[in-house]
Amino acid sequence: MTKRIHVLEPQVAELIAAGEVVERPASIVKELLENAVDAGAQKITIEIKNGGISYIRVTDDGGGIEKDDLPAAFVRHATSKVRTAADLEQIGSFGFRGEALASIAAVCKVEVLSRTPESISGGRYVIHGSQEVDFSDAGCPVGTTIVVRDVFFNTPARMKFLKKDSTEAGTIANIVDKIALANPQISFRFIRDGQVKLNTPGNGDLLSVIYAVYGKEFAADMIPVNYTHEFVTVSGFICRPTASRSTRSMQNFFINSRYVRSRTCMAALEEAYKSSIMTGKFPACVLNVQIPFNTVDVNVHPAKIEVRFSNERPVFDAVYRGCKEALGTAGEADFLPKEE
Ligand code: ADP
Ligand code: MG
Repeated sequence: MTKRIHVLEPQVAELIAAGEVVERPASIVKELLENAVDAGAQKITIEIKNGGISYIRVTDDGGGIEKDDLPAAFVRHATSKVRTAADLEQIGSFGFRGEALASIAAVCKVEVLSRTPESISGGRYVIHGSQEVDFSDAGCPVGTTIVVRDVFFNTPARMKFLKKDSTEAGTIANIVDKIALANPQISFRFIRDGQVKLNTPGNGDLLSVIYAVYGKEFAADMIPVNYTHEFVTVSGFICRPTASRSTRSMQNFFINSRYVRSRTCMAALEEAYKSSIMTGKFPACVLNVQIPFNTVDVNVHPAKIEVRFSNERPVFDAVYRGCKEALGTAGEADFLPKEE
């Protein structure tokens, strides 16, 4: 017998779509932090319990959400950040798909308190597994607090794939570190099971964030990079060759402050160190690559962790030259590797 085709029930479709955004608690933390950064927060507090599985709270002092907009924030493809197809060519915000809150609410229990600077009182919205539980007025400070409880409470199959609390907490800590490194002008405070794990000053000084994240010794081994080549500006810190590592885990690249995995940047960095470190050792870095929004496509990966450059060469050259200059080895070898 042939099987007939039918359109999925909305609730089932919602769960499938949610699965693409929310893989584990760390994906929730990433989305909530990006929303807080997009909202213009200066101070963001993240608190988790049990690896984020039972409890995640993110509080920001950003622009808040109008009470009347609270339900809409949880509708899939509802966003305040993008309007037209043309906007997609120029994405300056972290969010743009309007899918995060809808996805999180589909597979968790979510409570939001929010107030905009213009309104006297704020709003509260509670949603469990896509079902509205409460929508009311609430007194709260300007900004947004989102509490997420019981991740995957209604999708036991997914729940089974979660790792130990400590592993999930470690993944969350990693995400918080990266977002803090990308935003030195924002103060981040990360509390895990009641203990403060990270506290950054939010004064714009990247080196103090590096100190907070990786410690004093690591920070002491960093050299500043500041280099502009064509339309690409590279800034941040790279390590002295003697402080190179046995893995690449301390290579942090940001494109317009978005944490990414970039083969181009990695290759350029390592090429710059070629003559100064041993094989099997890898340079560490915290580098931000600033390029015009319309020369990079951020809409190529579900978690937006990979990006596509319209032209890789200027990016490679800027990172390579910037690092060479900082290391003081520019001109020592061929300035640039030959074009393939
Ligand atoms: P996106 O970030 O892609 O727009 P989300 O589902 O993450 O989609 O959020 C939906 C909308 O809710 C956002 O466009 C924004 O208007 C609002 N929002 C979410 N989080 C916050 C926050 N922390 N502060 C202010 N507004 C927020
Ligand atoms: Mg978002």
